[in-house]
Order: sequence, then C-alpha cells, then structure tokens
Amino acid sequence: MGDILCEIITSSDITSLWKVTKDQVEICNSCEFRYACPDNRIPIFDSKSNQYYHLTPCKYDPKTKKWNA
Ligand code: SF4
Repeated sequence: MGDILCEIITSSDITSLWKVTKDQVEICNSCEFRYACPDNRIPIFDSKSNQYYHLTPCKYDPKTKKWNA
C-alpha cells in the first residue's frame, strides 16, 4: 500500500505542477493578486506559447480590475 501511495505522489503527473507559479499562467501573470491568490484550478500547459492557461475564467479580470459576479 505504501509503495502504491509513494508511486502516486511522486508521479510526474502530480509533481510537474508543483513548481508552476501564477507568473507562468496567462492572464494571472498580469494580476496584482498573483503572489497571494488562493485559486486552485489546475493549469494546462500550451506548448505553442510555452505558457499555462486555465480552461475556466477567473472571476477577477486584471485588465479591468473588476470582479465579475
Ligand atoms: S485572482 Fe484570478 S486572475 Fe488573479 S492570479 Fe488569481 S486566478 Fe489569476
């Protein structure tokens, strides 16, 4: 059981996201909350732009500096 758990938590599917910061995520990288953001969406990597992005929008828009209801 311990070996399986260890295999899961050390798999690259999980560890590859450990060091992703909001500076590497489109839109978030221009947000003033990026170093204190509690967002838990899983970012997707786009190899063309070499950046991460989210499939769903955040309720905050850094460009307009407004929260969307
Ligand atoms: S508040 Fe929204 S846009 Fe800003 S860093 Fe967090 S998830 Fe990104």
